Amino acid sequence: MDVHARDPADRIKQLQHCINDLISVLALPAMWSGGEPSRIVQTLLDALLRMLQLDLVYVRLKETGGQTPIEIVRFAQSQQDIAQPHEIGEILEGWLGANPQEWPLLMRNTLGDRDISIVPLGLGLQGEIGVIVAGSGRSDFPQQTERLILSVAANQASIGLQEARLRSEQKRVASELDQRVAQRTTELAVANEELRKEIANRKHAEDDLRSSEEKHRVIVETANDAVVSMDETGAILIANPATRRIFGYDPIEIIGKPLTMLMPEMMRKLHENGFKRYLATGKRHLNWQGIELTAQRKDGQEFAVEVSFGELTSDGHKLFTGFIRDISERKRAEDQLRASERNLQMTQAELARVSRLTAMGELTASIAHEVNQPLTAVINNGSACLRLLANRNLEPEVLRRALEGIVADGTRASAVLARIRAFIKKEPADKNPLDINEVIQEMLVLAGHELYESQVVVDQQLTTDLPFVLADRVQLQQVLLNLIMNAIEALASVINRPRLLLVQSRINESRDVLVEVSDSGTGFDLEIDRVFNPFFTTKAKGMGMGLSISRSLVESHGGQLWATPNSPHGAVFSFTLPAIEGTAS
Ligand code: ADP
Repeated sequence: MDVHARDPADRIKQLQHCINDLISVLALPAMWSGGEPSRIVQTLLDALLRMLQLDLVYVRLKETGGQTPIEIVRFAQSQQDIAQPHEIGEILEGWLGANPQEWPLLMRNTLGDRDISIVPLGLGLQGEIGVIVAGSGRSDFPQQTERLILSVAANQASIGLQEARLRSEQKRVASELDQRVAQRTTELAVANEELRKEIANRKHAEDDLRSSEEKHRVIVETANDAVVSMDETGAILIANPATRRIFGYDPIEIIGKPLTMLMPEMMRKLHENGFKRYLATGKRHLNWQGIELTAQRKDGQEFAVEVSFGELTSDGHKLFTGFIRDISERKRAEDQLRASERNLQMTQAELARVSRLTAMGELTASIAHEVNQPLTAVINNGSACLRLLANRNLEPEVLRRALEGIVADGTRASAVLARIRAFIKKEPADKNPLDINEVIQEMLVLAGHELYESQVVVDQQLTTDLPFVLADRVQLQQVLLNLIMNAIEALASVINRPRLLLVQSRINESRDVLVEVSDSGTGFDLEIDRVFNPFFTTKAKGMGMGLSISRSLVESHGGQLWATPNSPHGAVFSFTLPAIEGTAS
């Protein structure tokens, strides 16, 4: 297509061709719309190859926006496929250099067995999109019209490719956006689900809290104790229904009022001061768990309460709750118990006296003997005096001796009776420093006749320099007499061996005074400690109180009384008493 053709008709024809080609080139974008860069390039190459009857046309698109570079080549049908696109690319680079912007407008070179004119054109204003290379074996290539068509085609392609790139970029952005939206939607759905769960959990927790609050409320409402809470100013915030029963106040009446209204006047100041001190220093002026205090009812009546406090800090404010139990009934019962304990003690003393009387009853033989002897002497002396008077034998010295005898024996008899009266008299305990050996001997004398009658051989092993004991003489006499009389009774049935009673006194390892009363009697055929049980007796006329009373008397002196079997026969009863300063002479 020579635009320089001389013949005007040819020229016109050529121009018409050119215009047709241009129209075809300008129509290309309509085919490309919406197409991919590779499709645009392919249709462009096909169109150019056909229109300009090129031998080859090659396109390389640079890499953009993540899209791989594209290299495409088309050959004229006569040429067959001489080489692969990348091989053509390498050849062209060899001829034209690496930088398409420095490429010449036209160059000739040999490809295969042909001389080829090469026209490189940049795609995009600076060739930033890529390059298109047209090649033809014709020597007049490119004619002016062909260059025009090539450059228009390159421009069109640039615009088309630019659009395609924008579109693909848009698509990429849109799909990225879609992806982000999808991802965000998923995230939101997850978050939503979590939120839903959290709301459900919170609701659950709220339900739990409500139900636990309800439980606590029911406990507090139905509690038997008054539950009263106060704030840091000492004002009552909460009071449960038991408050009405215990204090006589309707809970509504006392809310907002000072807690001190539930206390007797004399305690109010104490409480206020203590409470202030606690708030300032954190030091408690009383025990917070189960302390016994005095409270005051609405009608002014005071009564005993047991109070436990709890402290709670909520929103930076302290809340104090007291659990107040009315213990007036318990106190009354305790007082009654104390009174009956006292009563029991008085009763025990009475029992001890009865027991002493009983012992006296058992000692009638001894007593009769003790009193009878001086009385007989008195009678004898009196009779002697009467005889002397009847015989008018008024020897003053003889009469005086007889009368002196009467006085001495009368005094002896009266001393015996005084001793017995003292023993059975009802008197409170009177503790004095005593020589235990003295008491032992007194009792052996008192029981002397019984011991003699019962054919008991008595052995005394009394340590002479024993310390004193602080004791009530009559009570110790009673303990010893009990043990001696029990021994006599245990020995009564012994027939084929000596009836022995050994009484010992000494200091033991604990520096206490120890007394042992041992016999060779029947001993025990039962659990020994039972003999100390009140009313335990194996005797037909026994009361079973002797040992029980003796044990409590010894214990009331700070000592102990116990029994052990004697060897080979009999029983040993031992008791201790704390020693005091001073030694019996
Ligand atoms: P009672 O003498 O009235 O029975 P006691 O309390 O003095 O009351 O004694 C209780 C019991 O202990 C006696 O009945 C007897 O069985 C036993 N008992 C006391 N002393 C001896 C002893 N020396 N030997 C053996 N048994 C004894």
